[in-house]
Amino acid sequence: MNLFDTLTRSKRALSPIDGKAFRFYCCGPTVYGPAHIGNFRTFVMHDVFRRVLETSGMTTLHVRNITDVDDKTIRDSQAAGKSLREFTRHWLEKFHADCVALNCLAPHIEPSALDHIPQQIAMIEKLIEKGNAYASEDGSVYFKVSSFPEYGKLSHLDTRELDLGKTQNQRADADEYEKDSIADFVLWKSRKDEDGENYWASPWGEGRPGWHLECSAMIKEYLGNDFDLHSGGVDLVFPHHENEIAQSRCSCGGNFAAHWFHITHLMVDGGKMSKSLGNLYTIDDLAEKGYTAMEVRYVLISGHYRKQLNFTLDSLHAAKEALQKLAKGRALLASIGGNQADCSVAMESSVFAPAWESLNQDLNTPAALGHLFSGLKASQNLKSEEAAANLAAFDDILNALGLELPVQEQEQSSDAPADIQELAEQRWQAKQNKDWAASDQLRDQLSSAGWTIKDNPDGYELSQL
Ligand code: AMP
Ligand code: ZN
Repeated sequence: MNLFDTLTRSKRALSPIDGKAFRFYCCGPTVYGPAHIGNFRTFVMHDVFRRVLETSGMTTLHVRNITDVDDKTIRDSQAAGKSLREFTRHWLEKFHADCVALNCLAPHIEPSALDHIPQQIAMIEKLIEKGNAYASEDGSVYFKVSSFPEYGKLSHLDTRELDLGKTQNQRADADEYEKDSIADFVLWKSRKDEDGENYWASPWGEGRPGWHLECSAMIKEYLGNDFDLHSGGVDLVFPHHENEIAQSRCSCGGNFAAHWFHITHLMVDGGKMSKSLGNLYTIDDLAEKGYTAMEVRYVLISGHYRKQLNFTLDSLHAAKEALQKLAKGRALLASIGGNQADCSVAMESSVFAPAWESLNQDLNTPAALGHLFSGLKASQNLKSEEAAANLAAFDDILNALGLELPVQEQEQSSDAPADIQELAEQRWQAKQNKDWAASDQLRDQLSSAGWTIKDNPDGYELSQL
Protein backbone atom coordinates (compact mmCIF):
# COMPACT_ATOMS: atom_id res chain seq x y z
CA MET A 1 0.00 0.00 0.00
CA ASN A 2 1.10 3.58 -0.66
CA LEU A 3 0.19 6.03 2.05
CA PHE A 4 0.81 9.74 2.53
CA ASP A 5 3.38 10.43 5.24
CA THR A 6 2.94 13.65 7.24
CA LEU A 7 6.66 13.94 7.99
CA THR A 8 8.02 13.72 4.43
CA ARG A 9 4.81 15.00 2.81
CA SER A 10 4.97 12.24 0.25
CA LYS A 11 3.24 8.98 -0.52
CA ARG A 12 5.40 6.06 0.50
CA ALA A 13 5.08 2.31 0.20
CA LEU A 14 4.49 0.45 3.45
CA SER A 15 6.38 -2.62 4.48
CA PRO A 16 7.37 -3.96 7.90
CA ILE A 17 10.79 -2.87 9.19
CA ASP A 18 11.38 -6.31 10.71
CA GLY A 19 10.17 -8.12 7.58
CA LYS A 20 7.55 -9.97 9.65
CA ALA A 21 4.74 -7.90 11.10
CA PHE A 22 3.62 -4.34 10.39
CA ARG A 23 3.73 -2.77 13.86
CA PHE A 24 1.75 0.41 14.40
CA TYR A 25 0.49 2.67 17.16
CA CYS A 26 -2.63 4.79 17.20
CA CYS A 27 -3.32 7.35 19.90
CA GLY A 28 -6.47 6.12 21.61
CA PRO A 29 -9.46 7.79 23.24
CA THR A 30 -9.49 10.07 26.25
CA VAL A 31 -12.03 8.26 28.36
CA TYR A 32 -14.00 10.99 30.17
CA GLY A 33 -17.23 10.91 28.15
CA PRO A 34 -18.69 9.20 25.09
CA ALA A 35 -16.58 9.38 21.92
CA HIS A 36 -18.24 11.42 19.17
CA ILE A 37 -18.44 10.55 15.48
CA GLY A 38 -15.45 12.82 14.77
CA ASN A 39 -13.29 10.64 17.00
CA PHE A 40 -14.73 7.66 15.19
CA ARG A 41 -13.72 9.02 11.80
CA THR A 42 -10.15 8.58 13.00
CA PHE A 43 -10.71 5.14 14.54
CA VAL A 44 -12.73 3.82 11.58
CA MET A 45 -10.15 5.02 9.02
CA HIS A 46 -7.54 3.33 11.14
CA ASP A 47 -9.55 0.16 11.07
CA VAL A 48 -9.84 0.26 7.26
CA PHE A 49 -6.09 0.84 7.07
CA ARG A 50 -5.43 -2.27 9.18
CA ARG A 51 -7.98 -4.36 7.30
CA VAL A 52 -6.46 -3.47 3.92
CA LEU A 53 -3.00 -4.50 5.13
CA GLU A 54 -4.38 -7.77 6.48
CA THR A 55 -6.41 -8.45 3.33
CA SER A 56 -3.21 -8.11 1.35
CA GLY A 57 -1.70 -10.84 3.53
CA MET A 58 0.35 -8.77 5.97
CA THR A 59 0.54 -9.66 9.64
CA THR A 60 -0.09 -6.62 11.84
CA LEU A 61 0.55 -5.62 15.42
CA HIS A 62 -1.86 -2.86 16.40
CA VAL A 63 -1.29 -0.99 19.65
CA ARG A 64 -3.78 1.66 20.80
CA ASN A 65 -3.52 3.32 24.20
CA ILE A 66 -6.19 4.49 26.59
CA THR A 67 -5.74 8.02 27.89
CA ASP A 68 -7.00 7.77 31.43
CA VAL A 69 -4.55 10.11 33.18
CA ASP A 70 -4.83 13.68 31.90
CA ASP A 71 -6.27 17.07 32.86
CA LYS A 72 -9.77 16.16 31.63
CA THR A 73 -10.14 12.65 33.08
CA ILE A 74 -8.85 13.86 36.46
CA ARG A 75 -11.06 16.96 36.47
CA ASP A 76 -14.24 15.03 35.59
CA SER A 77 -13.59 12.05 37.86
CA GLN A 78 -13.12 14.50 40.74
CA ALA A 79 -16.38 16.23 39.85
CA ALA A 80 -18.15 12.84 39.72
CA GLY A 81 -16.69 11.86 43.10
CA LYS A 82 -15.25 8.64 41.65
CA SER A 83 -11.80 7.13 41.52
CA LEU A 84 -10.00 7.71 38.23
CA ARG A 85 -10.05 3.99 37.49
CA GLU A 86 -13.77 3.56 38.19
CA PHE A 87 -14.71 6.72 36.29
CA THR A 88 -12.64 5.93 33.20
CA ARG A 89 -13.63 2.23 33.15
CA HIS A 90 -17.24 3.23 32.51
CA TRP A 91 -16.31 5.37 29.50
CA LEU A 92 -13.87 2.79 28.20
CA GLU A 93 -16.63 0.17 28.19
CA LYS A 94 -18.85 2.57 26.26
CA PHE A 95 -16.04 3.19 23.79
CA HIS A 96 -15.54 -0.54 23.27
CA ALA A 97 -19.27 -1.10 22.72
CA ASP A 98 -19.33 1.65 20.07
CA CYS A 99 -16.24 0.13 18.38
CA VAL A 100 -17.98 -3.24 18.19
CA ALA A 101 -21.11 -1.64 16.72
CA LEU A 102 -18.91 0.11 14.13
CA ASN A 103 -17.20 -3.20 13.34
CA CYS A 104 -13.74 -1.91 14.31
CA LEU A 105 -11.24 -4.65 15.08
CA ALA A 106 -9.94 -4.56 18.65
CA PRO A 107 -6.25 -3.61 18.88
CA HIS A 108 -3.89 -6.44 19.74
CA ILE A 109 -2.59 -4.49 22.73
CA GLU A 110 -4.50 -1.74 24.54
CA PRO A 111 -2.35 -0.36 27.35
CA SER A 112 -3.48 2.42 29.66
CA ALA A 113 -1.52 5.32 31.16
CA LEU A 114 -2.71 4.39 34.67
CA ASP A 115 -1.02 1.01 34.35
CA HIS A 116 2.29 2.47 33.13
CA ILE A 117 3.26 5.12 35.68
CA PRO A 118 6.66 3.50 36.54
CA GLN A 119 7.60 3.38 32.84
CA GLN A 120 6.78 7.07 32.53
CA ILE A 121 8.87 7.95 35.58
CA ALA A 122 11.77 5.90 34.18
CA MET A 123 11.59 7.83 30.91
CA ILE A 124 11.72 11.17 32.71
CA GLU A 125 14.75 10.01 34.67
CA LYS A 126 16.47 9.13 31.42
CA LEU A 127 15.62 12.53 29.90
CA ILE A 128 17.02 14.38 32.93
CA GLU A 129 20.14 12.21 32.85
CA LYS A 130 20.70 13.07 29.19
CA GLY A 131 20.13 16.80 29.71
CA ASN A 132 16.82 16.97 27.86
CA ALA A 133 14.65 17.71 30.89
CA TYR A 134 14.88 19.66 34.11
CA ALA A 135 12.97 19.86 37.38
CA SER A 136 11.48 23.20 38.39
CA GLU A 137 11.27 24.75 41.85
CA ASP A 138 7.86 23.19 42.59
CA GLY A 139 8.85 19.62 41.69
CA SER A 140 7.41 19.61 38.17
CA VAL A 141 9.64 18.41 35.34
CA TYR A 142 9.79 19.97 31.86
CA PHE A 143 11.18 18.83 28.54
CA LYS A 144 13.75 21.32 27.29
CA VAL A 145 12.60 21.91 23.72
CA SER A 146 15.81 23.73 22.76
CA SER A 147 17.78 20.54 23.50
CA PHE A 148 16.23 18.79 20.49
CA PRO A 149 17.07 20.64 17.24
CA GLU A 150 14.66 18.49 15.23
CA TYR A 151 11.68 19.76 17.21
CA GLY A 152 8.98 21.02 14.83
CA LYS A 153 9.90 18.82 11.85
CA LEU A 154 6.70 16.77 11.85
CA SER A 155 4.39 19.76 12.03
CA HIS A 156 6.60 21.64 9.53
CA LEU A 157 7.06 24.64 11.75
CA ASP A 158 9.58 26.65 9.78
CA THR A 159 12.36 28.54 11.49
CA ARG A 160 10.38 31.77 11.30
CA GLU A 161 7.73 30.29 13.53
CA LEU A 162 10.08 28.27 15.63
CA ASP A 163 12.91 29.96 17.43
CA LEU A 164 13.96 27.27 19.84
CA GLY A 165 16.02 29.82 21.78
CA LYS A 166 12.79 31.61 22.69
CA THR A 167 11.41 28.55 24.42
CA GLN A 168 13.94 29.04 27.22
CA ASN A 169 12.12 29.99 30.40
CA GLN A 170 8.73 29.53 28.76
CA ARG A 171 6.75 26.59 30.05
CA ALA A 172 3.48 24.94 29.12
CA ASP A 173 1.73 23.16 31.97
CA ALA A 174 -1.51 22.25 30.23
CA ASP A 175 -1.84 19.00 28.33
CA GLU A 176 -3.17 20.83 25.28
CA TYR A 177 -1.93 24.10 23.78
CA GLU A 178 -1.63 25.84 20.42
CA LYS A 179 1.30 26.28 18.03
CA ASP A 180 1.81 29.90 18.99
CA SER A 181 2.68 28.88 22.51
CA ILE A 182 5.61 26.57 21.83
CA ALA A 183 7.34 26.11 25.12
CA ASP A 184 9.07 23.59 27.31
CA PHE A 185 6.28 21.12 27.98
CA VAL A 186 5.49 19.38 31.19
CA LEU A 187 6.56 15.75 31.76
CA TRP A 188 5.73 15.55 35.45
CA LYS A 189 3.22 17.77 37.24
CA SER A 190 3.79 18.33 40.91
CA ARG A 191 0.86 17.41 43.16
CA LYS A 192 -2.01 19.92 43.28
CA ASP A 193 -5.06 19.89 45.57
CA GLU A 194 -7.44 19.68 42.62
CA ASP A 195 -5.89 16.36 41.54
CA GLY A 196 -7.32 14.68 44.65
CA GLU A 197 -5.96 11.18 45.15
CA ASN A 198 -4.37 11.07 41.72
CA TYR A 199 -0.71 11.41 42.55
CA TRP A 200 2.28 9.09 42.67
CA ALA A 201 5.67 9.19 44.37
CA SER A 202 8.63 10.10 42.16
CA PRO A 203 12.24 11.26 42.56
CA TRP A 204 10.89 14.85 42.20
CA GLY A 205 8.16 14.49 44.79
CA GLU A 206 4.51 13.50 44.51
CA GLY A 207 2.73 14.28 41.31
CA ARG A 208 1.48 12.82 38.06
CA PRO A 209 2.77 12.44 34.50
CA GLY A 210 1.87 14.95 31.77
CA TRP A 211 -0.31 13.62 28.96
CA HIS A 212 2.27 13.57 26.14
CA LEU A 213 4.56 11.20 27.98
CA GLU A 214 2.22 8.21 28.19
CA CYS A 215 2.40 7.32 24.49
CA SER A 216 6.20 7.52 24.41
CA ALA A 217 6.46 5.23 27.45
CA MET A 218 3.94 2.69 26.14
CA ILE A 219 5.44 2.69 22.65
CA LYS A 220 8.82 1.89 24.12
CA GLU A 221 7.28 -0.93 26.15
CA TYR A 222 5.34 -2.59 23.32
CA LEU A 223 6.99 -1.50 20.06
CA GLY A 224 10.56 -0.58 20.99
CA ASN A 225 12.57 2.29 19.53
CA ASP A 226 11.77 1.72 15.85
CA PHE A 227 8.34 0.83 14.54
CA ASP A 228 6.39 1.08 11.30
CA LEU A 229 3.69 3.71 11.69
CA HIS A 230 2.07 6.11 14.13
CA SER A 231 -1.26 7.82 13.71
CA GLY A 232 -4.13 9.85 15.04
CA GLY A 233 -6.38 12.76 14.14
CA VAL A 234 -4.76 15.78 12.57
CA ASP A 235 -5.09 17.83 15.76
CA LEU A 236 -2.48 15.58 17.34
CA VAL A 237 0.34 16.56 14.93
CA PHE A 238 1.12 19.51 17.16
CA PRO A 239 1.94 19.44 19.99
CA HIS A 240 1.22 15.82 20.95
CA HIS A 241 3.12 13.92 18.26
CA GLU A 242 5.87 16.51 18.07
CA ASN A 243 6.36 16.05 21.82
CA GLU A 244 6.26 12.26 21.57
CA ILE A 245 9.07 12.35 18.98
CA ALA A 246 11.17 14.62 21.18
CA GLN A 247 10.69 12.49 24.31
CA SER A 248 11.27 9.16 22.61
CA ARG A 249 14.17 10.06 20.35
CA CYS A 250 16.01 11.83 23.17
CA SER A 251 15.46 9.14 25.79
CA CYS A 252 15.70 5.95 23.72
CA GLY A 253 17.60 6.79 20.55
CA GLY A 254 16.17 4.98 17.52
CA ASN A 255 14.11 6.59 14.79
CA PHE A 256 10.69 6.23 16.45
CA ALA A 257 7.91 5.95 13.81
CA ALA A 258 8.93 5.31 10.19
CA HIS A 259 5.65 6.71 8.86
CA TRP A 260 3.04 9.23 10.11
CA PHE A 261 -0.63 8.82 9.19
CA HIS A 262 -3.05 11.62 10.17
CA ILE A 263 -6.76 11.78 9.59
CA THR A 264 -8.39 15.12 8.78
CA HIS A 265 -11.29 16.25 10.92
CA LEU A 266 -14.94 15.47 10.49
CA MET A 267 -17.08 18.59 10.31
CA VAL A 268 -20.79 18.75 10.98
CA ASP A 269 -23.17 20.83 8.87
CA GLY A 270 -20.17 22.67 7.46
CA GLY A 271 -18.71 23.66 10.83
CA LYS A 272 -16.80 22.43 13.82
CA MET A 273 -18.52 19.94 16.06
CA SER A 274 -19.19 21.39 19.45
CA LYS A 275 -21.46 20.72 22.38
CA SER A 276 -22.64 24.33 22.44
CA LEU A 277 -23.78 24.22 18.81
CA GLY A 278 -25.69 21.02 19.55
CA ASN A 279 -24.10 19.26 16.58
CA LEU A 280 -21.88 16.82 18.39
CA TYR A 281 -23.24 13.37 17.69
CA THR A 282 -22.52 10.06 19.36
CA ILE A 283 -23.46 6.63 18.03
CA ASP A 284 -26.34 6.58 20.56
CA ASP A 285 -27.65 9.98 19.42
CA LEU A 286 -27.83 8.71 15.85
CA ALA A 287 -29.38 5.38 16.87
CA GLU A 288 -32.16 7.39 18.50
CA LYS A 289 -32.73 9.06 15.14
CA GLY A 290 -33.06 5.64 13.51
CA TYR A 291 -29.57 5.21 12.01
CA THR A 292 -27.37 2.18 12.52
CA ALA A 293 -23.68 2.27 13.41
CA MET A 294 -22.98 0.59 10.04
CA GLU A 295 -24.61 3.54 8.26
CA VAL A 296 -22.39 5.85 10.30
CA ARG A 297 -19.36 3.78 9.27
CA TYR A 298 -20.37 4.10 5.62
CA VAL A 299 -20.55 7.91 5.92
CA LEU A 300 -17.20 8.05 7.71
CA ILE A 301 -15.44 6.17 4.91
CA SER A 302 -17.27 7.98 2.12
CA GLY A 303 -14.71 10.81 2.09
CA HIS A 304 -10.95 10.66 1.60
CA TYR A 305 -9.15 10.76 4.93
CA ARG A 306 -6.95 13.70 3.90
CA LYS A 307 -9.94 15.93 3.12
CA GLN A 308 -12.41 17.40 5.54
CA LEU A 309 -15.62 15.42 5.56
CA ASN A 310 -18.89 17.16 6.18
CA PHE A 311 -21.39 15.10 8.11
CA THR A 312 -25.12 15.70 7.64
CA LEU A 313 -28.16 13.63 8.52
CA ASP A 314 -28.87 13.49 4.78
CA SER A 315 -25.54 11.74 4.24
CA LEU A 316 -26.69 9.06 6.70
CA HIS A 317 -29.87 8.63 4.73
CA ALA A 318 -27.85 8.22 1.53
CA ALA A 319 -25.64 5.68 3.33
CA LYS A 320 -28.70 3.61 4.22
CA GLU A 321 -29.66 3.49 0.53
CA ALA A 322 -26.11 2.76 -0.60
CA LEU A 323 -25.83 -0.20 1.77
CA GLN A 324 -29.16 -1.56 0.53
CA LYS A 325 -27.94 -1.20 -3.04
CA LEU A 326 -24.71 -3.03 -2.27
CA ALA A 327 -26.69 -5.80 -0.59
CA LYS A 328 -28.94 -6.11 -3.60
CA GLY A 329 -26.00 -6.17 -6.00
CA ARG A 330 -24.26 -8.79 -3.94
CA ALA A 331 -27.39 -10.96 -3.84
CA LEU A 332 -27.66 -10.78 -7.61
CA LEU A 333 -24.00 -11.67 -8.07
CA ALA A 334 -24.45 -14.58 -5.67
CA SER A 335 -27.52 -15.78 -7.54
CA ILE A 336 -25.73 -15.68 -10.91
CA GLY A 337 -22.79 -17.53 -9.41
CA GLY A 338 -24.84 -20.14 -7.59
CA ASN A 339 -23.20 -21.71 -4.59
CA GLN A 340 -19.73 -22.31 -6.01
CA ALA A 341 -17.86 -21.41 -2.86
CA ASP A 342 -14.54 -22.81 -4.05
CA CYS A 343 -14.22 -20.40 -7.00
CA SER A 344 -11.82 -17.54 -6.64
CA VAL A 345 -9.98 -15.15 -8.87
CA ALA A 346 -6.92 -13.01 -8.17
CA MET A 347 -8.18 -9.67 -6.92
CA GLU A 348 -6.16 -7.96 -9.67
CA SER A 349 -8.08 -9.70 -12.42
CA SER A 350 -11.55 -9.36 -10.89
CA VAL A 351 -14.08 -6.73 -11.94
CA PHE A 352 -13.39 -5.18 -8.52
CA ALA A 353 -9.66 -4.65 -9.22
CA PRO A 354 -10.05 -0.83 -9.45
CA ALA A 355 -11.66 -0.77 -5.99
CA TRP A 356 -8.75 -2.73 -4.53
CA GLU A 357 -6.28 -0.50 -6.35
CA SER A 358 -7.94 2.62 -4.88
CA LEU A 359 -7.63 1.27 -1.36
CA ASN A 360 -3.95 0.66 -1.95
CA GLN A 361 -3.40 4.15 -3.33
CA ASP A 362 -3.44 6.32 -0.23
CA LEU A 363 -6.50 4.58 1.20
CA ASN A 364 -8.91 6.16 -1.25
CA THR A 365 -12.13 4.83 0.26
CA PRO A 366 -14.60 7.02 -1.70
CA ALA A 367 -13.07 5.88 -5.00
CA ALA A 368 -13.14 2.27 -3.79
CA LEU A 369 -16.85 2.55 -2.99
CA GLY A 370 -17.53 4.02 -6.44
CA HIS A 371 -15.65 1.15 -8.10
CA LEU A 372 -17.54 -1.40 -6.02
CA PHE A 373 -20.79 -0.13 -7.49
CA SER A 374 -19.48 -0.08 -11.06
CA GLY A 375 -17.96 -3.54 -10.56
CA LEU A 376 -21.35 -4.85 -9.48
CA LYS A 377 -22.92 -3.34 -12.57
CA ALA A 378 -20.29 -4.92 -14.84
CA SER A 379 -20.66 -8.28 -13.15
CA GLN A 380 -24.29 -8.63 -14.22
CA ASN A 381 -23.11 -9.96 -17.56
CA LEU A 382 -20.73 -12.52 -16.11
CA LYS A 383 -21.05 -16.25 -16.60
CA SER A 384 -21.89 -18.32 -13.57
CA GLU A 385 -18.35 -19.41 -12.67
CA GLU A 386 -16.89 -15.95 -13.21
CA ALA A 387 -19.62 -14.48 -11.02
CA ALA A 388 -18.80 -16.87 -8.19
CA ALA A 389 -15.11 -15.99 -8.43
CA ASN A 390 -15.85 -12.26 -8.47
CA LEU A 391 -18.16 -12.60 -5.50
CA ALA A 392 -15.17 -13.74 -3.43
CA ALA A 393 -13.25 -10.61 -4.53
CA PHE A 394 -16.28 -8.41 -3.68
CA ASP A 395 -16.48 -9.93 -0.21
CA ASP A 396 -12.76 -9.36 0.38
CA ILE A 397 -13.11 -5.67 -0.44
CA LEU A 398 -16.23 -5.34 1.66
CA ASN A 399 -14.35 -6.92 4.52
CA ALA A 400 -11.40 -4.57 3.97
CA LEU A 401 -13.84 -1.67 4.25
CA GLY A 402 -15.36 -3.33 7.32
CA LEU A 403 -18.87 -3.03 5.89
CA GLU A 404 -21.59 -5.47 6.86
CA LEU A 405 -24.56 -5.41 4.53
CA PRO A 406 -28.15 -5.28 5.71
CA VAL A 407 -30.30 -8.34 5.30
CA GLN A 408 -32.71 -7.06 2.72
CA GLU A 409 -35.85 -8.03 0.95
CA GLN A 410 -33.94 -9.59 -1.93
CA GLU A 411 -33.51 -12.61 0.32
CA GLN A 412 -37.25 -13.12 0.36
CA SER A 413 -37.11 -13.52 -3.40
CA SER A 414 -34.03 -15.71 -3.28
CA ASP A 415 -36.25 -18.54 -4.45
CA ALA A 416 -36.51 -16.82 -7.81
CA PRO A 417 -34.21 -18.36 -10.42
CA ALA A 418 -31.11 -16.41 -11.40
CA ASP A 419 -32.49 -15.32 -14.79
CA ILE A 420 -35.63 -13.90 -13.13
CA GLN A 421 -33.58 -12.06 -10.50
CA GLU A 422 -31.42 -10.67 -13.25
CA LEU A 423 -34.46 -9.39 -15.18
CA ALA A 424 -35.80 -7.84 -11.97
CA GLU A 425 -32.48 -6.14 -11.33
CA GLN A 426 -32.29 -4.85 -14.91
CA ARG A 427 -35.81 -3.42 -14.52
CA TRP A 428 -34.79 -1.79 -11.26
CA GLN A 429 -31.77 -0.22 -12.96
CA ALA A 430 -33.95 0.95 -15.88
CA LYS A 431 -36.33 2.54 -13.38
CA GLN A 432 -33.44 4.26 -11.59
CA ASN A 433 -32.33 5.59 -14.99
CA LYS A 434 -35.93 6.75 -15.64
CA ASP A 435 -36.00 4.59 -18.74
CA TRP A 436 -39.71 3.89 -18.40
CA ALA A 437 -40.07 2.05 -21.73
CA ALA A 438 -37.37 -0.47 -20.81
CA SER A 439 -38.71 -0.76 -17.28
CA ASP A 440 -42.25 -1.59 -18.57
CA GLN A 441 -40.91 -4.05 -21.10
CA LEU A 442 -38.91 -5.90 -18.45
CA ARG A 443 -41.91 -5.98 -16.12
CA ASP A 444 -43.93 -7.58 -18.96
CA GLN A 445 -41.18 -10.10 -19.54
CA LEU A 446 -41.26 -11.00 -15.85
CA SER A 447 -45.02 -11.44 -15.77
CA SER A 448 -45.00 -13.67 -18.84
CA ALA A 449 -42.48 -15.81 -16.95
CA GLY A 450 -44.90 -15.97 -14.02
CA TRP A 451 -43.40 -13.38 -11.69
CA THR A 452 -44.69 -10.09 -10.34
CA ILE A 453 -42.65 -7.24 -8.95
CA LYS A 454 -43.70 -4.79 -6.26
CA ASP A 455 -41.71 -1.66 -5.49
CA ASN A 456 -41.25 -0.43 -1.94
CA PRO A 457 -39.27 2.48 -0.42
CA ASP A 458 -36.13 0.34 -0.08
CA GLY A 459 -36.20 -1.44 -3.42
CA TYR A 460 -38.49 -4.15 -4.76
CA GLU A 461 -39.95 -7.51 -3.95
CA LEU A 462 -40.41 -10.41 -6.35
CA SER A 463 -43.19 -12.93 -5.95
CA GLN A 464 -44.71 -15.70 -8.05
CA LEU A 465 -48.00 -15.01 -9.79
P1 AMP B 1 -9.51 12.14 22.13
O1 AMP B 1 -10.51 11.17 22.70
O2 AMP B 1 -9.89 13.58 22.29
O3 AMP B 1 -8.13 11.87 22.65
O4 AMP B 1 -9.47 11.89 20.55
C1 AMP B 1 -9.39 10.62 20.00
C2 AMP B 1 -9.00 10.73 18.54
O5 AMP B 1 -10.02 11.41 17.81
C3 AMP B 1 -7.72 11.52 18.30
O6 AMP B 1 -6.93 10.82 17.35
C4 AMP B 1 -8.21 12.84 17.74
O7 AMP B 1 -7.25 13.44 16.91
C5 AMP B 1 -9.42 12.39 16.96
N1 AMP B 1 -10.42 13.44 16.67
C6 AMP B 1 -10.92 14.38 17.51
N2 AMP B 1 -11.86 15.17 16.89
C7 AMP B 1 -11.96 14.70 15.62
C8 AMP B 1 -12.74 15.07 14.47
N3 AMP B 1 -13.63 16.05 14.51
N4 AMP B 1 -12.55 14.35 13.32
C9 AMP B 1 -11.64 13.33 13.27
N5 AMP B 1 -10.90 12.93 14.31
C10 AMP B 1 -11.03 13.60 15.48
ZN1 ZN C 1 -0.32 9.70 21.70
